[in-house]
Amino acid sequence: MKKPELLAPAGNMEKLKCAIRYGADAVYLGGTDFGLRNMSGNFSMEEMLPAIELSHLHGVRCYLTVNSYVPDHALSRLEDYLEKLALLPFDAYIVSDPGVLRMVRRISPDREIHLSTQANTINRETALFWEEQGVSCINLAREMTLEDIRSTVKAVSIPCEVFVHGALCIAYSGRCLLSSALTGRSANLGECTQPCRWKYSLVEETRPNQQLPIEEDSNGTFIFNSRDLCLLEYLPDLVRAGVGALKIEGRMKGIHYLASTIRVYRTALDRFCENPESYNPEPAWMEELESLSHRGYTTGFLLGNPRDVGQSYQAGYLRSHQLVGVVERLLEHGRAVVLVRNRFKSGDSLSLMGPGMKNAEFTAKNLVLAECDSSRELLEVVHPNMRIIMDVPTEAASDDLIRLPGSLQETLV
Ligand code: SF4
Repeated sequence: MKKPELLAPAGNMEKLKCAIRYGADAVYLGGTDFGLRNMSGNFSMEEMLPAIELSHLHGVRCYLTVNSYVPDHALSRLEDYLEKLALLPFDAYIVSDPGVLRMVRRISPDREIHLSTQANTINRETALFWEEQGVSCINLAREMTLEDIRSTVKAVSIPCEVFVHGALCIAYSGRCLLSSALTGRSANLGECTQPCRWKYSLVEETRPNQQLPIEEDSNGTFIFNSRDLCLLEYLPDLVRAGVGALKIEGRMKGIHYLASTIRVYRTALDRFCENPESYNPEPAWMEELESLSHRGYTTGFLLGNPRDVGQSYQAGYLRSHQLVGVVERLLEHGRAVVLVRNRFKSGDSLSLMGPGMKNAEFTAKNLVLAECDSSRELLEVVHPNMRIIMDVPTEAASDDLIRLPGSLQETLV
C-alpha cells in the first residue's frame, strides 16, 4: 500500500506558505493566463519562480494549472505563454485540452503532464487512453464511484488522483454554461461566478418589480444547491484502492479553510498509513471540518448517485469558527504581533490553531496597537488589517491562525 500524495491549492503566495506549513506534499497554482480559477489571485510570471523555489525548499512538489479549453484564435498566445513557462522548474503542468497537451509536449518534452478533472475521466478505457498519450497522472472525475475508482486505478500504471474535499459542480466539473450565460464569465475559462449557489425567484413579465419567491420550503429553493464534498470517512478505502493522490479543492478559498482541511487530511492520512489495522479516526477531525464555512457535506458520487442527499436544504453556508488573526511574530513574555483579519474584542474566547491539530484556547487580552506597545493604551475592539500586540498561549508560533469559535451562519449571496 503506497501512501498517496496530499495535494492542496495555492491561490497566492500567502496560501502557498499556508499549504506548505500545514502539511501538503504538493501544491497546485495558476498563472495569470490559461489556468482555471482566474479570480483566485494567481501568480504572475515574476511570482512563479519564488513560489516554486519555496515549495522545493520544503520538499513540496509544485504544479501549474494550464487547464482551460483554448479557442483556436488563442493558440499563438498559448504558445508564447508555454515558451516562457518552459524556463521555470514546475514539476508538472495540469492540462485538460488535448491541444494544450500536444503543445506542452512539443515545447517542454520532458515536463510531467497531469490530466485535470476538467477532462472528465470516468472509466478505465479513458484512463488507458490518456496513459497512452504520455500523461503521468490522471485526476479522476468526481462523478466516479469507489468501485469504478478501484478498477480504473488497477487498469493503469500511472497514479490516479481523487478529489477528497471541496465544492462540487452540479454539472460535470466545470462543463457548465450557467455562469457564462448569466454573467458572461465562463466556467471553462476559470471565471465561474457560481450562479448555481444563487437564490432565484420568479418574475412575471409585466410586473418586473414584483418577485415571486420559489419556495420548496421555508428555507427557499434548492434547485442547484450542491453540498460540498467531504471524503474523510472514506480515506482508508481510497488509500487501499491504490489512489496516488488526494486532492483538496479551493484555490479561491481563504487560509483558514486551507489550514484546516490540510491538517485534518494530513493527520488522518499519516495515522492510517502508519498502522492501517489500528486506525481509529478522531471525532475532532470531522468537528474541525464542520467548523469551516461549508454548505453541508456529501460523499458525492463515491457510493453511487447521491440524488437528494447531495442537495443542500439550507439557504446559507454553515460555519462555527471564524478566522480573526494571524500570528506574525512572537515577542517576549507570552506576547505576539498579530495581524487582525476579522473583528474581535477584548475578553473574547479565542482558539489558536497550528499544524498537526495543535489547538490552544485562550482569552483575548492586553490588546494594543503594534506600533504603540510602549504606550499601553488598551483596545476594547480590533478591526481587520490592524496590526496589534496581544497575549498568546505558550504554544503559539509564527504563522499560527487565531479563530473565534461561536455559532455563526453566513447568508447565501
Ligand atoms: S455555476 Fe456551479 S455548476 Fe456551473 S461551473 Fe460554476 S460552480 Fe460548477
